[in-house]
Order: sequence, then C-alpha cells, then structure tokens
Amino acid sequence: MRAAALAAALRPLRDDLFVLGADGAPVALRGTRCTDCGRVAFPARALCSHCAPNGHLVPHRLSAHGVVHASTVARVPSAMGHAPPYAYGYVDLPDDATRIFAPLSGAEATWFQPGARVRVVFGEIPAAAMRGVLGYWFVPDAPVTADD
Ligand SMILES: [Zn+2]
Repeated sequence: MRAAALAAALRPLRDDLFVLGADGAPVALRGTRCTDCGRVAFPARALCSHCAPNGHLVPHRLSAHGVVHASTVARVPSAMGHAPPYAYGYVDLPDDATRIFAPLSGAEATWFQPGARVRVVFGEIPAAAMRGVLGYWFVPDAPVTADD
C-alpha cells in the first residue's frame, strides 16, 4: 500500500490536525491564523492568544519545513507505548513565524539539537496503544550522514 493510501486509511489523532489531499491523505498540518494580528497557532485554536477575546481565526496550512528550537530525549516508555529512547521538542516554522510542539523521529534521538533542519511527515503513530491512528512527526530534512 502506498504511503498516501495507508495514511488515508488511518483514523486521525484529531479531526482538525491535517490538511487533506484529494486522496484523503494528509498533505500538511492545519492550524489557525488570526486575521487581525497574523499570528499562526497549531493545533487549531478557538481564540487568538494575542487578540482574545477579539480576533478572527481562519484555517492555516503550515509549512512542512522547520528548525529544531529545543528537544529532549525520553528514556522511559510513553503512556501510549512509544519505545525509548525517543525525542520530542519545539520546532520553529519560519515561514509561519510560529513554534510548535512535536515528536521527532527518523534519526538517533540525540540528533535533534537546536538548529537541526527538519520536515514534517505523516503516518501511523509508532506506539503500541496507537495502532491505526494517523499522526505526525518531524524527521531530518536531509539524509543524516556520519558527520552529523
Ligand atoms: Zn490575533
């Protein structure tokens, strides 16, 4: 099964997390943008953190490319069943002028140092309690070499 078809067959972690393509597979993360101040948030919000209770939010397609702001490595299993070690942290999305919290995978957990360039991918969440659930995480934006 192609990756897109597989992703379309999974149940999303939340209904409002993804921009979906014509085949039903996710093509981007979906957040909100405030039409008053321009701030972007992910996941989608009901109120702008800057303008509340005013401000009008519209759906926003987030950039796929980011830079690790900070990360940490968990060395115990998660409640959902992620096998340690695994990384997660904050990723800056420069095109959206925002920072989001996300799992980090696709390289040694310690690779995700501040400044590392990453991109978002979609698939079945790799945790025992999340079988069949569509999620997202960030991976290295370019192949990791021995020099990294
Ligand atoms: Zn606002």
